[in-house]
Amino acid sequence: MKWANKGHEFDVIGEKFVNVDKIYIYGCGMRGKELAYKLSYCDCVTAFVDYKAANFPQGLMGKPVYSQQEFLSMNHENAIVIIAMADFVQVKKILIYAGFNEGTDLFDDKTFANVYLYIYYLYRFKKLYFDRMNLEVTNVCSLKCKHCVAYIPFLQHKGHVDYSDLIKDIDTIFNNFDFLNSFDLVGGEPFLYPYLCDVIEYVFKNYSKKINFCRIFTNGVYSALSKETMQTLFERKIIIEWSDYREGIKDEQTVSIINKNIKGFNEHGINVSRRCLSWSDYQHGQKRNELKEDLCTVYNNCYSRCSHATGKILLPCLSSYVIHKDVMKIDEEKFNDFIVLDGESNKHVILESLLGYTESGYTEMCQYCGGSGPINNKIVVPGKQVKIE
Ligand code: SF4
Repeated sequence: MKWANKGHEFDVIGEKFVNVDKIYIYGCGMRGKELAYKLSYCDCVTAFVDYKAANFPQGLMGKPVYSQQEFLSMNHENAIVIIAMADFVQVKKILIYAGFNEGTDLFDDKTFANVYLYIYYLYRFKKLYFDRMNLEVTNVCSLKCKHCVAYIPFLQHKGHVDYSDLIKDIDTIFNNFDFLNSFDLVGGEPFLYPYLCDVIEYVFKNYSKKINFCRIFTNGVYSALSKETMQTLFERKIIIEWSDYREGIKDEQTVSIINKNIKGFNEHGINVSRRCLSWSDYQHGQKRNELKEDLCTVYNNCYSRCSHATGKILLPCLSSYVIHKDVMKIDEEKFNDFIVLDGESNKHVILESLLGYTESGYTEMCQYCGGSGPINNKIVVPGKQVKIE
């Protein structure tokens, strides 16, 4: 989306939330709890509502649980209700008949978390919240994936990020963001970074109140981790996001290293989430020659957009990170779709950028990148290896 009213793009939506002082989550299952965590930063949840309220005599997550009848008999002024359950059609019908309006004071959890939550925090509490932030600790990797989204096998400059620079980057991020649901350490392969535990400890000692959890994204290929590292991962409840590339890698020795390393996490009680990814062929570097309007469509519909910080620069996706840093060598002056996190940055502009606004409506790299999702049907096997000459 192209900025038309920079710093005020969400004013109309945000105004709806300024006076909201009660949030009810309808559903006490996993989805309800997940949403409650995301709303915990400003202690926004008033109560839960559930068919089976009687099963929660002590409440849930420190909040009362009301039955549907109790809830419907309450005063709903300045309240919103968010349905967090798989089968929500019947509940939604009852709430609409009771006078709630979808998109105003009635939402489903997925739409609220993905569309409104950030705007709610910003306009209701003047807090900059985002779901996740990637911080690259190294661009050294143990694999050479032919279709690497970060273009890592083809980078000209590789190395670990200097520890003191990384600490400054972390401070910069948290000077700008009030809360991140997930703070993600990424690479390259993060377990090749020699100061990974120091980074984790620094984040938790200084910013534990600003994150719900911390994740490490790994391909599973590295030398066995020390006991101290395992202990840190366990104590800090780090979530290991394991991208399972075994089908693409094929090499038996590498696959056995992966199996051993993942087993090691399981043995130490460390939470591993296995990611079976669908990859697209990004065709990095091949120019599209598309019209600007088409590039806007590409940018708006690309699944690969994410928040990625490098130094003081906040970038809209990993691919644009590549140009900023290394190989593509696109004219820097043209590349004006990043935000500088300088502590003075306008929180509204940062959020608009994170949610898809740029000066041109796309990022310069979209001209040289296939992206992923509905805009790119060239699906490839994740983790297929290439030999770099
Ligand atoms: S198509 Fe554009 S938004 Fe998507 S990954 Fe490529 S550069 Fe980023």
